[in-house]
Amino acid sequence: MTNLRFQMVEKAFHKRAIPIEVPDSRPSEYFASQVFDREKMRKYLPHQTFLQLIEVIDHGVKLDRSIADEVAAGMRRWAETLGVTHYTHWFQPLTDGTAEKHDAFIEHDGKGGLIEDFSGKLLVQQEPDASSFPNGGIRNTFEARGYSAWDATSPVFVMDGTLCIPTIFIAYTGESLDYKAPLLKALSAVSKAALGVVQYFEPQATKVYSYLGCEQEYFLVDESLYLARPDLLLTGRTLMGHESSKNQQLEDHYFGAIPERVSAFMKDLEIHALKLGIPTKTRHNEVAPHQFELAPIYEECNLAVDHNMILMALMEKLARKHGFRVLLHEKPFKGINGSGKHNNWSLGTDTGTALMSPGKTTEENIRFIVFIVNTLMAVYRHNGLLKASIMSATNAHRLGGHEAPPIIISSFLGKQLTKVLDHLDQSTDEAAIHIKGKYELNMGIPHIPELLIDNTDRNRTSPFAFTGNRFEFRAPGSTANCASAMIALNTAVAQQLTFFKQEVDTLIQQGSPKMRAILQVIKKYIRLSKPIRFEGNGYSAEWREEAIKRGLNCETACPIVFDEYTTTASKELFESMQVMSAKELSVRNEVKWEIYTKKVQIEARVLGDLVMNHVVPVAVEYQSRLAENVCKIKAAFSPAEAEAISSENKAIIREIAQHTAFIKEHVDSMIEARKVANALSDEREKALAYHNNIAPMIEEIRYHIDKLELIVDDRMWTLPKYRELLFLG
Ligand code: ADP
Ligand code: MG
Repeated sequence: MTNLRFQMVEKAFHKRAIPIEVPDSRPSEYFASQVFDREKMRKYLPHQTFLQLIEVIDHGVKLDRSIADEVAAGMRRWAETLGVTHYTHWFQPLTDGTAEKHDAFIEHDGKGGLIEDFSGKLLVQQEPDASSFPNGGIRNTFEARGYSAWDATSPVFVMDGTLCIPTIFIAYTGESLDYKAPLLKALSAVSKAALGVVQYFEPQATKVYSYLGCEQEYFLVDESLYLARPDLLLTGRTLMGHESSKNQQLEDHYFGAIPERVSAFMKDLEIHALKLGIPTKTRHNEVAPHQFELAPIYEECNLAVDHNMILMALMEKLARKHGFRVLLHEKPFKGINGSGKHNNWSLGTDTGTALMSPGKTTEENIRFIVFIVNTLMAVYRHNGLLKASIMSATNAHRLGGHEAPPIIISSFLGKQLTKVLDHLDQSTDEAAIHIKGKYELNMGIPHIPELLIDNTDRNRTSPFAFTGNRFEFRAPGSTANCASAMIALNTAVAQQLTFFKQEVDTLIQQGSPKMRAILQVIKKYIRLSKPIRFEGNGYSAEWREEAIKRGLNCETACPIVFDEYTTTASKELFESMQVMSAKELSVRNEVKWEIYTKKVQIEARVLGDLVMNHVVPVAVEYQSRLAENVCKIKAAFSPAEAEAISSENKAIIREIAQHTAFIKEHVDSMIEARKVANALSDEREKALAYHNNIAPMIEEIRYHIDKLELIVDDRMWTLPKYRELLFLG
């Protein structure tokens, strides 16, 4: 029998694109057909209920329980038109992905029977049996159960024949156990703080929105090959595999077969996403083989986060349908570009002003500079925290690589904006802020009204880059929930804008004209936040030296980076902005450490299995074949001749022996190291032990496996190789 690898390669090679169902109507017509949006609310709800619900959505008015029944009934009637029989509270626990518990639209009628119903009570609040979700010890007692509560600001949708109700997930004691609850609070904080500042310029604005456009990178691998790689199946990344040589003739041939199947997947994904109201623009990525990117048009942040979670779930589902598996891991292949989730972030008002975009008038441009500089200040103040917000066991493999953002947070502004800020900084107060009349300003900058920011001035090495009308936070990982980064960023900016307004208002009270006060504070901030600005090559060794001098956070150990959440500055930040309590912060860190440990632990176990069951047996088998050959030659030739003929094979036999000995020995010591680490009861200590002692061993063992892969006869190797995973399918 040929080995599994060859069977799977054969299978992958012969797969063809499957036909997809393309709707008859145009995308604009089926867009959001599976979403209970305003149009459907209007149609399915009594008018008064509709108006009340809109108040809840637009103005954060509390949902009156008295209308909940009518809303639920309307939702159910709409869902039934799509053949839906079940509903679920859909929430975002502290693990990757989402969670749901499905229930039928059925309730007891109180007389021993069942009626088809979906009450407001069930829409608004539930008690999922959530003991299996990470809670950092908060819910260890029986009483401390959790509940999920409807987030009316995110529309209900139908997926997989189920009505999905976006909810927050909190403990009975009030602590959040998910990403959505603190995100909503962070968004509310930034909205409030930004509005206070916007009103210096636009008194008519009544609300500020935080926007997010999330570029999602991912790999596709053929499902048959994926299933023959236990490491991919169980850890999402390859724990072994030698880089494929780029010049293989076959690669072009294989590559030619890819686009058809992939593009069928992409079209299908796009149709499904559009139906769920996700405004996707699909496109191909050329960075790495079989790596792609999808970027929906930006939306209000909470909605964009939900949409990204839905999108990841859709990708997983549809990839299987098309005979692929999607890899969302940040670094599935060694030596090949990793995947991120660029978070394009900006603020805008209900009057349509994009606060991160320059305007036409001097005043508009001061407003623009105010928001840019305050963002820089926030990122500077909390650069360690922002790093913690995107850090994970999986993203740690990607960050700091020479194709991904460095592990130090800094911000790139581009030539023009740098020049503007430098002018403001260097000009003396009087020359810089010479105020004639009401708002006529001479800021020592040639014509600020003509501020045009060149969107093509890009620096790919920057983790937090200004890109013309937004900041692009490039460090979040491809598996992450964007909410984590968005909670930290929006809260930090909220605090910063609050400080700014306090300072400006104090100057105004002391008699300073408004614009002068604003510029005075901004000038100070430009100076203070200078260390966060970096226009150079973030991959260079000098940058690290420089960043240390500037006092930026340069920590690289994942478990230690999490400490940033519980510093005095971070506690003050989250508590003063009413986003999270100190208790919530420390509880969530427990969860982060626990997840870190588990991820490395699983990798270590899987690698141990792979090595003992696949790699070493194959290597030993090949070794004994060579040994047989050596014996036969010895029998057939004179000693001198036999020695000459067999010397090569003998060298290989020795090499295999050295690699397998190293591997066996280190797999044993890795098990011992795990035992020691597992005995630690403190989650942080345990994570650190895994980080310091076990994670490096995984890489060391891998080195020897990859060497064996190069030596052992290709026909005997059982695990699909990089060239097959990356170029077939
Ligand atoms: P790039 O130029 O980085 O290749 P795109 O033009 O595709 O990328 O945009 C990346 C993402 O940025 C998209 O989701 C897009 O909608 C989003 N985006 C554009 N403008 C803004 C903005 N003002 N605020 C937030 N996101 C934005
Ligand atoms: Mg981009």
